[in-house]
Amino acid sequence: MSFKFVFQRPRGMNDFLFDEANFLLSLKEEIIKYSQLYSYHYIQTPVLEEEGVFTSSLGQSTDVIQKEMFYLKEREGGIKYVLKPEGTASVIRAYLQNGMHSLPQPVKLFYLDRMYRREKPQAGRFREHHQWGLEIIGSSDPIYDAQIIQVFDRFFKKFKLFDYIFKINSLGCKKDRNKYLKDLKNYYKKNLKNVCKDCQRRYNLNPLRMLDCKEEKCKEYKKNAPSLINYLCKDCEIQISKTLEYLDILEIKYDLDQTLVRGFDYYQRTVFEIFFPETNIAIGGGGRYDNLAQYLGGKVIPAVGGAIGLERLIEILKIHNVKLKMAKSAEIFIAQTTEKTKEYALKIYDELIKNNIPVLENFSKSSLSSQLELANKLGVKYCLIIGHQEIGNKTAILKDMVKRSQEIIAINHLTQEIKKKLKL
Ligand SMILES: [Zn+2]
Ligand SMILES: [Zn+2]
Repeated sequence: MSFKFVFQRPRGMNDFLFDEANFLLSLKEEIIKYSQLYSYHYIQTPVLEEEGVFTSSLGQSTDVIQKEMFYLKEREGGIKYVLKPEGTASVIRAYLQNGMHSLPQPVKLFYLDRMYRREKPQAGRFREHHQWGLEIIGSSDPIYDAQIIQVFDRFFKKFKLFDYIFKINSLGCKKDRNKYLKDLKNYYKKNLKNVCKDCQRRYNLNPLRMLDCKEEKCKEYKKNAPSLINYLCKDCEIQISKTLEYLDILEIKYDLDQTLVRGFDYYQRTVFEIFFPETNIAIGGGGRYDNLAQYLGGKVIPAVGGAIGLERLIEILKIHNVKLKMAKSAEIFIAQTTEKTKEYALKIYDELIKNNIPVLENFSKSSLSSQLELANKLGVKYCLIIGHQEIGNKTAILKDMVKRSQEIIAINHLTQEIKKKLKL
């Protein structure tokens, strides 16, 4: 019976297979090691959160809240759950709920997680994507703003990537921003009919976003718009200038970009994004979000963080032909000839694996020639052959697939000999 139809994976989502999957796995391992080197603790939050975690903190006018969240059909006790569209709000929810304020502050956390957004599928944007995030919670010291950037910067350099830039800006505190927005709206008021439709909408909902409009006809108005940096209070000014000073000390390249605004309401003061010349979208970004805990029902807890999209990072690593340390693949294949030798081979197979020697097999085949053919195809260096005679003699035949030679090895020296040959 044949089917006309097989189920398809969800739109805008990926299957990671073989080489792609191995690359992703190795990248995750590198990220884990690296985050731990900087003493960040791993945190894993549920894939679902209450809708309110995001609706109360990201901003009602953002695309994520307006149209991009995946809702669960089922409601529990009147609560609506959504698939996590981003990581930070979820981490702060966990910080509050688990009383992490009683730990020595700041608390440094990292996550490696999948996020979900119902975006229009297009290049570089997926509905399910991986993020590596860092959060430093419980301090307003600008040295931590710089430290977040430092981890990402050093990570890129470790892989010999140098051609990127951190765009950085300050959004000031709420007070600064309110003053600024008044002037910004005043400025745009007389030109409102000349800017794009999106900007006209943003004018009422989120005028700050008018600054990062990419439309040609809006550029001219952006250029002469008042600059937020001129509206910063003394504290906010110190925050950004100290951050930049620390970046200078660390010799990290950055551009102070006054049009950089970041999408979410919870950001204030420092914001940053990371750009590589190969992609026209940011591969990551972050900033300070001192009010986020308050939006989620807690008190004000100063915090700063950032995240990188792994799909975009992988694209960059591939372009630069970066090789990651992959798991060692098997260089030896174990072959047998009959049911009796299969049982014996199974025990040897078990023994080799116990000794950390990766081994390939196809015990479902009984013809030796077809097993050798397969071993050849798989490109292994050695084939270990178990026959009746070998069982009797407590030996095995080790065939060198490259030199086409073979030798007999005593079973009790087997792992030792193989390790020597494979330089394990
Ligand atoms: Zn301020
Ligand atoms: Zn526009």
